[in-house]
Amino acid sequence: MHAKRAGIALLLSISLLGLFTACNSSSLAQSSGKMNVVAAENFYGDIAKQVGGEHVNVSSVLSDPNVDPHEYESSVENGKAVATAQLVIQNGGGYDEWMKKLLDASPNDNRSIVTAFDIAPQKLPDNEHVWYSPQNVKVIASSIATVLKKQDAAHAADYDANLKKFDDSLQALEQKISEIKSKYAGTPVGLTETIFLYQTGPMGLDVKTPGELQKAIAEGNDPPANTVAIANNQITHGEIKVLIYNEQTNTPITSKLQRDAQSKNIPIVPVTETMPQGKTYQSWQLDQMNSLEQVLKSSTSK
Ligand SMILES: [Zn+2]
Repeated sequence: MHAKRAGIALLLSISLLGLFTACNSSSLAQSSGKMNVVAAENFYGDIAKQVGGEHVNVSSVLSDPNVDPHEYESSVENGKAVATAQLVIQNGGGYDEWMKKLLDASPNDNRSIVTAFDIAPQKLPDNEHVWYSPQNVKVIASSIATVLKKQDAAHAADYDANLKKFDDSLQALEQKISEIKSKYAGTPVGLTETIFLYQTGPMGLDVKTPGELQKAIAEGNDPPANTVAIANNQITHGEIKVLIYNEQTNTPITSKLQRDAQSKNIPIVPVTETMPQGKTYQSWQLDQMNSLEQVLKSSTSK
């Protein structure tokens, strides 16, 4: 029995040795043997970490909750990181034009690029926030795994296993969306910015805020005056049950909507563009959905 175990251990050691050899002979440029991944936004960085596991070094450019990603401009350090990366993940769709500039400034044939917006199956008009759809994220994670396997074939099995685990964990988000839909479809809600449309749609919520206002806020423009008046009236007259407030992309207009909602006792659910510290993509999204569900429960008495 013991001899058999020792035999298995020896076999394991040999196969591990084989893996190390394969690893060393692969095209990994870094001495650490890990692939350098740069994500434009931290939610993509987190997905890359989950899929890449111990084989990747991930750095994310946008992770400060006090920075509005729509207004971001890149630094010299960002440029250096991109120049030495083997994989760069960007959103695209006009969201992070600065990353496109950094990539153009340091051409590298050995670097792979994943552009989430371009591969996302669910795209809403004038709305680049594709990561708010778990269905999109599933496709984006799969594309990241494909690149990692191509760049580092020796660890393909690990990437496949990590991807499977990640995909499985997204089911909790899909379930929560269905649960909210089954209980609260048709409930009138307000949105200060377009980001949450990727979830209000599948949840069946009835978004009352004029789309022109949400879009102007996302793009950093002044919304048409009549749309602001409509949004203000909806709150004053209690026509929405909850205000979903993008606290990372705010302006004096959204702050006023927030204050008015507070004074009318309309509950507010804060959401963010990027992932808050200490969370994963899944826990961030699930926490927001849970808050929304709680608030819908109390404001609709369902
Ligand atoms: Zn936004």
